[in-house]
Amino acid sequence: MNMNFLMPTELIMGKDCVVNNASVFSRYGKKAMLVTGCNSAKQNGSQEDVLKALNLQNVDYVIFDKIMANPTIDIVYEGAAFARENKVDFIIGIGGGSPMDAAKGIALLAAQEISQENLFSGIYENSVLPMIFIPTTSGTGSEVTKYSILTNDAAQTKTSIASPVIFPKVAMIDAKYTESVNLTTTINTAIDALSHSVEGMLCNKANPISNLLAKDAIRKIAECFTQLQEGSITSESREKLIYASALGGIVISQTGTTAVHAMGYSLTYFKHVDHGRANGLLLGEFLEFVEIKKPELVHEILECMNLSSVSEYKNIMAKLLGKKELITQEEIEQYANIAMKAKNIPNSVVVPEQEDLIHIFQKSFQ
Ligand code: NAP
Ligand code: FE
Repeated sequence: MNMNFLMPTELIMGKDCVVNNASVFSRYGKKAMLVTGCNSAKQNGSQEDVLKALNLQNVDYVIFDKIMANPTIDIVYEGAAFARENKVDFIIGIGGGSPMDAAKGIALLAAQEISQENLFSGIYENSVLPMIFIPTTSGTGSEVTKYSILTNDAAQTKTSIASPVIFPKVAMIDAKYTESVNLTTTINTAIDALSHSVEGMLCNKANPISNLLAKDAIRKIAECFTQLQEGSITSESREKLIYASALGGIVISQTGTTAVHAMGYSLTYFKHVDHGRANGLLLGEFLEFVEIKKPELVHEILECMNLSSVSEYKNIMAKLLGKKELITQEEIEQYANIAMKAKNIPNSVVVPEQEDLIHIFQKSFQ
C-alpha cells in the first residue's frame, strides 16, 4: 500500500480547553497577534478566554479584528504589515474559516516577502509565524488544514495558498463558542464539513486513513440532520459538528477537494452565496455524476448517512437549503469556464469535462 498522511497540528479539544491549556500560548513567544472577524469573537467568549490565558502566562498581545467574510488579498498584506510593525512572535486566529484563513496568510507574509503575483505559487520558504487557532464555526476545519483561501479578483474566483508550511501549530477546539452561531450559518457550515469529507472520499488521493476519518465525520454530521432541519441544535450536536469539521479538515489536507469546491467558488465570488451553501447546492449532482462510473464508492458514502440513493440525499439537502438562487445559462457557462482552471478539478476519481460542469450547474439549479 502506498500512502502519505501528514497531520502536524496538535489538537486540543474540550470544554474550557483554551483557559485550561494557557501554558500552550507561552510556548510560542512573548507577544501574540489575535486575528479575528469584526464582532463574533468578542461576543461568543472566545476572545475573552484567549485574553485570560495570555494574561495568566504574561504574554503581551495586539488585536487585528478587521477580517471580513471571504477575506481579500489586501487584508492579508495589511495584517502582515501590522504583525511586522508590532514585532509579534506568533498568531492566534479566532473565528470561522475567514479569520483563520486570513491568519495563515498573515503568518506567512509576516515571515517572508512574497509578491502578489507569487502568492498562490505554492513555492515558499520554510519560515512562518507559529499559529494557534480557535475555531468558532463548525465547517471549514481550517484549524487543521494547510490551506488559506482568499478572494482572488485577478482570477475572479477564490484561490488557495496551499502548503504544509501553513499548518497551524495548535488547534484548540471548544464547541461552546459555536452556541451563538445562527441556524443558517450552522447549516451552511455543517454542509461545508460534510462536503469536505464526501469530496475527500471522491478524490484520487483518498487513502485508508483519510477514508476512515471521512466516514466518521459523515456519520456524525448525518446524526445531526434532523436537528438541523428542525432548527433545534443541542450542545451535544454542536460538539459532534465541530469534531466532524476538524476531521473533514484533516481529510482535505490529505486529499484536496473536487469540482464541487471549484464550482462553488464562482457562486460565492459572483453571487455572494455562502461557501458551505454553495457546496451543498452542487454536491448532490456531483455525487450523481460520479455514481455513473463509481457506484460502489458513492454507495459507501451514502451508507454512512443511512441512505440508499443520491435522490434521498438530495431531498435532505433541499430541505436544509430552501429556495435556490436563480442562475442564467450565460452565468453557468462563465462559471464552468473559470472552475475548469482550478487545481481541484483533476483531483477527483472521475474527472469532469467542462460540459459536465455545465450539466451539474444546470441540474443543481433546476
Ligand atoms: P466565516 O466567513 O468565517 O464567518 C461567517 C459569519 O459567522 C461571520 O459573520 C462571523 O462573524 C460569524 N461567526 C463566526 N463565529 C461565530 C459564532 N461563534 N457566533 C456567531 N457568529 C459567528 O464563515 P465560515 O463558513 O466559517 O468560513 C468560510 C470561509 O472559510 C470561506 O472563505 C471559505 O473559502 C473558507 N474555507 C477554508 C477552508 C480551509 O481549509 N482553509 C476550507 C473550507 C472553507 P465575524 O465576522 O464577526 O467573526
Ligand atoms: Fe470548504
